Amino acid sequence: MERTFAIIKPDAVERKLAGQILARIEEKGFNIVGMKKIQLTKKQAEGFYYVHSARPFFNDLCAFMSRSPVIVLCLEKENAIADWRTLMGATNPANAEPGTIRKDFAVNIEENSSHGSDAPETAAFEIPYFFSALELV
Ligand code: UDP
Ligand code: MG
Repeated sequence: MERTFAIIKPDAVERKLAGQILARIEEKGFNIVGMKKIQLTKKQAEGFYYVHSARPFFNDLCAFMSRSPVIVLCLEKENAIADWRTLMGATNPANAEPGTIRKDFAVNIEENSSHGSDAPETAAFEIPYFFSALELV
């Protein structure tokens, strides 16, 4: 079994799409081992996305991610990291496959409804950024 980290982003929570996204997660067989609703500060968003700090979209991205609450998740299944990225679809919804979360729900390349770890090392940083061991069941 593998664990990955996911976020239902502000644009999706604001539009009351969390339930539909969680249903897709469960239908694909993920175990939800951690889940909470929080609102990031801008500084917390900057720390989470530090790998993108030199990118032109960094400031807008961190403002977006901290503007309203998110739902953070730790998801578990075999091949969880790759399978969650497949279920989300491409970063830019214009390039996302039909039936993916980003194709169906994203507003644009920034407000793209969901986040997923891209590798085991990323998940190993992202999961404990949000969850203590006691919160994962
Ligand atoms: N993003 C953006 N503009 C871009 C690329 C990315 O606003 O040109 C945002 C978008 O919200 C994306 C996040 O930055 O999900 C992180 O980018 P990354 O390349 O890691 O995409 P992801 O792993 O989320 O698909
Ligand atoms: Mg990424």
